[in-house]
Amino acid sequence: MPSKSSKILFREASRYIPGGVNSPVRAFRSVDSTPIFIERAAGSRIYDVEGREYVDYVSSWGPMILGHSHPAVVRAIQKAAARGTSYGAPTELETEMAKLIVDAFPSMDMVRMVSSGTEAAMTAIRLARGYTGREKIIKFEGCYHGHADSLLVKVGSGVATLGIPGSPGVPRSLAELTITLPYNDIEAVVSAVEQHKDGLACVIVEPVAGNMGVVPPRKGFLETLRKITRRHGILLIFDEVITGFRLTYGGFQNISGIEPDLTCLGKIIGGGLPVGAFGGKKAIMEKLAPSGPVYQAGTLSGNPVAMSAGLATLNILKKNAKAYLRLDRRTVLLCDELQRLFDHKKIPVRINRCGSMFTLFFTKDDVFDFTSAAKSDTSLYAHYFRKMLANKIYLAPSQFEAAFLSFAHRDEDIEKTLHACEKAIRTLAKIS
Ligand SMILES: *Cc1c(COP(=O)(O)O)cnc(C)c1O
Repeated sequence: MPSKSSKILFREASRYIPGGVNSPVRAFRSVDSTPIFIERAAGSRIYDVEGREYVDYVSSWGPMILGHSHPAVVRAIQKAAARGTSYGAPTELETEMAKLIVDAFPSMDMVRMVSSGTEAAMTAIRLARGYTGREKIIKFEGCYHGHADSLLVKVGSGVATLGIPGSPGVPRSLAELTITLPYNDIEAVVSAVEQHKDGLACVIVEPVAGNMGVVPPRKGFLETLRKITRRHGILLIFDEVITGFRLTYGGFQNISGIEPDLTCLGKIIGGGLPVGAFGGKKAIMEKLAPSGPVYQAGTLSGNPVAMSAGLATLNILKKNAKAYLRLDRRTVLLCDELQRLFDHKKIPVRINRCGSMFTLFFTKDDVFDFTSAAKSDTSLYAHYFRKMLANKIYLAPSQFEAAFLSFAHRDEDIEKTLHACEKAIRTLAKIS
């Protein structure tokens, strides 16, 4: 008998923590289940408190591109912690981090470190409003930019999973300043900008959407955003919290060649510690306090332990830029084989992939925005998720999230996953 059980731990957690978790999707509600509690993780594998080992595709929702507890990252954290965990005063590490980021992103002259992606997006919006003197913003349905009030309108991720349009507690007067449009809909953008142009501070977008499941931009979508925002003095913000250092060394902007005015980062740049960042051209960034009037601050911003974990991660990625190609190839192979397994059993699925992130949607139609993603059969996904978990494959507990491969995933992990999928599909064929 294992000494601990996830079910018992979850029951106890639920007495003291709302819903038993510190971030909603972790509760496994949309897959009609209760969470497994984690004991440790290493490489591509994660281990629950009952001693089970899983191939991990959640990757802490994106950060763990090197795999879990990479020795160089762990060493960097240990060394930094031994020198003190926080000073509330500047360190060289912060400049080193800023330089690395600025060098990787041609659209940035300067960058400010914060402690989460939420904080990065929230502050980028405030900066855009402060810089332009305008108040309205455009965001896209199904894109998630953290849970700041202005951005918690028609979002993806956990809110989509729970099937609620927004959130109580967001003042209507603030939500009214947020215009939401369908992702990939160029005409909707053109007409909304025409209508609101003089009041628009910014357009914020995930250049590859990852929070309604993976939805890549259609040809012309980002190009149109860039052209139309530039024409009207509106700032374009790329939220690359997931895509930053996920698809290449840099962001999706390095691949697409389309440069935003501001970029938000998080996840990978923290190497598994709480870090976010936003940056852009000097003229905009210098509007931030203390060089300018737009206020933003943080007790743990640029924290030395977090910077050390991030630096260790980015330095490895920089040295291994070619490894991204291998990672892409491995992901293509996995997606092709998964598609083949489902086709063989005549269960309609659509797999959207960009680099090492992908989503298997239980739908027969093309998925290009939130409405088409929402057509997926979420109860079938829930069944699939539970069967995969029982076969030791840890997927995101929601249809509307991405799966991530890491550099630590090997052929053996792919084989295990395909084998588990084959078994899961046998039971799916009976219910679909
Ligand atoms: C995760 C995420 C955020 C929020 O980051 P947190 O660190 O969870 O606050 C913002 N934008 C995108 C695109 C994300 O995926």
